[in-house]
Amino acid sequence: GSYLSVQSVRKIYQTRNGDVHAVEHADFDIDEGDFVTLVGPSGCGKSTLMSMIGGLDTPSTGNILLNGKVIEAPHRDFGYVFQDATLLPWKTVMENVLFPIHTQKRDVKQYLPEAERLLKLTGLYDFRDKRPAELSGGMRQRVAICRGLINDPQLLMMDEPFSALDAITRDDMNLALARLWDEVRKTAIFITHSIREAVFLSDRVLVMTARPSQIICDIRVPYPRP
Ligand code: ADP
Ligand code: ADP
Repeated sequence: GSYLSVQSVRKIYQTRNGDVHAVEHADFDIDEGDFVTLVGPSGCGKSTLMSMIGGLDTPSTGNILLNGKVIEAPHRDFGYVFQDATLLPWKTVMENVLFPIHTQKRDVKQYLPEAERLLKLTGLYDFRDKRPAELSGGMRQRVAICRGLINDPQLLMMDEPFSALDAITRDDMNLALARLWDEVRKTAIFITHSIREAVFLSDRVLVMTARPSQIICDIRVPYPRP
């Protein structure tokens, strides 16, 4: 079977104003190690689909399987990065990166080398003792990505991590993420509005439409990147 399998998934939210068909139909497999991007207009269901894959929400119908097992909420082996980096302001860059290890009551010292490696790969090593307020928006998102990777997750989910950044910083971030991925090569699901960003970063691009909410196009991007 496949690594990650989204099988006839549909998500309907019941609201006071009636049913919202957030995801009408999704059916696809993801191979281990692929960087997959969901691209499409606002409200087409990208976040809902990613939340279900991450086990933060459950499908109304259909199944999502990881290595043949149904994903139950929320998956401890997944890393998450959101539009807002949500760093802890009183903790340093290094402490923020190690925070998941700390909350899981694992040995923080044991993960120091990995934290240092990730900070070096993202150009943040010299900033390891700074606090989030002393960093730029792009740097904060890079810290969030390092934090998402610290416990060697099976899958990293990134929901519009660069949307709040200016265009130039965003291009820098795309380069930084592409370079990082050449090193870490991890299965990733990435959400963006930008088809350009999607094609630049991904092994595979899934294009979604809003009405009905479904995937209309499945593109495999040749490597090396265009
Ligand atoms: P995208 O990430 O592509 O912008 P979303 O997955 O956030 O889209 O939303 C898809 C649709 O589902 C939208 O119409 C949105 O308003 C609706 N929606 C999302 N979450 C909820 C919720 N918890 N309750 C009701 N409707 C929701
Ligand atoms: P550990 O703390 O030893 O990593 P976990 O309890 O986190 O163990 O996970 C044990 C196994 O269950 C792992 O194979 C992991 O991938 C899987 N797993 C963890 N969380 C979930 C989840 N929410 N749904 C399905 N499988 C999960």
